[in-house]
Amino acid sequence: MPAADRADIASLDLEQLADALADLGQPSFRRGQLVAWLYGRLAPSFDAMSNLPGALRADLEERYSLVHPELAEVQRSADGTRKYLWRLADGVLIESVGIPAGDRLTVCYSTQAGCAMGCTFCATGRGGFVRDLLPGEMVWQVALVADDFKTRASNAVAMGQGEPFNNYDATLAALRLMNDKQGPAIGARHLTISTCGVIPGIERLAHEPEQFTLAVSLHSAVQATRDRIMPGVRRWQLDRLRATLIDYTQRTGRRPTLEFALIGGQNDTTAEVSALVNFARGWMCHVNLIPVNPVEGTGTGRPSDSRVAEVAALLTAAGIETSVRTERGTDIEAACGQLTQRHRPSAG
Ligand code: SF4
Repeated sequence: MPAADRADIASLDLEQLADALADLGQPSFRRGQLVAWLYGRLAPSFDAMSNLPGALRADLEERYSLVHPELAEVQRSADGTRKYLWRLADGVLIESVGIPAGDRLTVCYSTQAGCAMGCTFCATGRGGFVRDLLPGEMVWQVALVADDFKTRASNAVAMGQGEPFNNYDATLAALRLMNDKQGPAIGARHLTISTCGVIPGIERLAHEPEQFTLAVSLHSAVQATRDRIMPGVRRWQLDRLRATLIDYTQRTGRRPTLEFALIGGQNDTTAEVSALVNFARGWMCHVNLIPVNPVEGTGTGRPSDSRVAEVAALLTAAGIETSVRTERGTDIEAACGQLTQRHRPSAG
């Protein structure tokens, strides 16, 4: 089959991998072997899958392409964080970040190349949407970063470029591949999806059987502010978002995280903090305050440490579980989209 007509093996979810092997007359245990080679051992080709029969390797080669993301650049922060820029098979650039902490490694991966949501504080949002990623392109980011750290990933977070719920099916397929014991084998609770508040996605996730973790980028509980800084979610207003999240907690028994990037002078004011308290009070959530990394050209800045501590204290006093995320990778532009922007000649 001409190379251009072959399907990308990275497009297949677990069920489709099983069907593909069944079509080739293979017993069911072959799926585990194939997943292990693709996403556990990072085989660079079907031919390298040495415990598969030669005829099967040839059949797979005939029908499917297998092209790993190619490393275009890696930046290493003094704090151990590493940021990766990958070039996909079609030349598209995406980013991942590896964040080590003790014996844990968290990989932040992209679910789309670019993003259509247009958040004003985000470099990816400024670059626009390019395309959805395939499930395997997400899993490979996690596996390749773990390989670079010479360890396994303990946690993976869909918090790189893109809105995961705008690419729902592929993201869920990737989570199931990451969770598979033959692949990266990351526990479901350690697989986090971070959405900017796409309500239909939250509703769907509430009905999935796995214990995946949900994080919502809130960033303001004042409707006018949120409409301005996150224009892509204007259609899903805050009261409906809160009701959907409460329903999610009741249905799943799981506690979502509300991510709140504190932007100096914008969403750290008294009015903003009291709206956040009102939004988060009285139901099972966790607020994660993130003093924001400066993004060149967006006019955003970091609030003072004392203001961050005050905001955390106000939330805690209202009975809201709160943490402050330590900034990592500031010296390597770890905010999403910053590395890609530098590689795009047209980007500002
Ligand atoms: S913050 Fe996330 S959802 Fe918003 S533009 Fe950036 S990548 Fe998209």
